[in-house]
Amino acid sequence: MPLSLDETLTQELQALEAKHLRRRPVITEALEGVEIRRDGKRYVNFSGNDYFGLSRHPKVIAAAARTLEAYGTGAGASPLVTGYHPGYASLCEALAEYKGTQACALFGSGYLANLGTITALMDKGDLILADRLAHACIIDGAQLSGAALKRFRHNDLAHLEQLLHKRGEYRHCLIISETVFSMDGDCAPLTELATIARAHDAWLMSDDAHGIGFISNNPAQIQLGTLSKGLGSMGGYVCGSQALVDMLYTKARPMIFATALPPSATAAAEAALDVLSREPERAEHAIRHARYFCEAMGLPAPQSPIVPLIVGESAPALHLSEQLKERGMLAVAIRPPTVPKGSARLRFSFSAAHSDQQVEQLVQTLKTVMKAS
Ligand SMILES: *Cc1c(COP(=O)(O)O)cnc(C)c1O
Repeated sequence: MPLSLDETLTQELQALEAKHLRRRPVITEALEGVEIRRDGKRYVNFSGNDYFGLSRHPKVIAAAARTLEAYGTGAGASPLVTGYHPGYASLCEALAEYKGTQACALFGSGYLANLGTITALMDKGDLILADRLAHACIIDGAQLSGAALKRFRHNDLAHLEQLLHKRGEYRHCLIISETVFSMDGDCAPLTELATIARAHDAWLMSDDAHGIGFISNNPAQIQLGTLSKGLGSMGGYVCGSQALVDMLYTKARPMIFATALPPSATAAAEAALDVLSREPERAEHAIRHARYFCEAMGLPAPQSPIVPLIVGESAPALHLSEQLKERGMLAVAIRPPTVPKGSARLRFSFSAAHSDQQVEQLVQTLKTVMKAS
């Protein structure tokens, strides 16, 4: 008898479980500030991406609430049908101005922005060169596009140039990197990448999911990001030239075949962008926590509010995360395949919404549990 669907899946899940690779969501309730509740217990969250505390900002919440009252809960259709609402247009304008580009397009998420943009621009016969540590959705988009995909070693310009020796065999070439790397917290050499791209008749795309508010003067022609992290809302965006945006409206499949972001999400993101522009010190505040943490733990100085503590194997990373959790602190273990084999880690992310005391408590607790294990 062949196995049923459920029998097959159960076997596969058990095999993954044995390798510590099974994943499960846990109901998590956001409380005030950076605190969360799970199974009735409160934790200080060091795994969120709300770097500026904007998802809880009164102005952001008020903007979303006003819009909900006025326009209801959903956009009702794709932007090309009837989903292109006034708040959608005004957020595009605000993002383009913030980024210093001609235009901007929105997607349902950062994931979809990557998928939609890469597949709209690249095709069979084209070449995509992506940083080895580029986010999964960049790789998914590249594979879906049909273009040849090669990965250059992380932030390794010499390796990138070496791969560009074969540039002539392809029509278009797109170089893709992140601005701030999501799992390592380091930054891409954007200026150098832009110079290399120009010299080889290649285009440069950056994913700024973790960089907004921290990275300025981005020379990439295609500047992609998310509304869902630092801006505390939901959605993805692509900033660039008018021609780029016109092409995304025309060819990007997640733009054409998916419903537009709801008015409350765009209103929240626009209000968050406004607060961030007026209060750039929020970024400095988040980085200051990261700097303090790194100094106290003897880690290299951070380049962003993301700090990895590399443990190696999945099991000890999970154990360390569990130890912190027992003491009221949430720092999720990040394991392969999200990160390369042998580099399982705790990923700490700091927010302007953390207090000095919370960071100090993390340092003391982490020192204690690491000494004990
Ligand atoms: C989170 C993330 C995305 C996806 O953005 P969502 O809005 O969460 O879909 C894309 N790229 C990078 C680098 C990310 O970290």
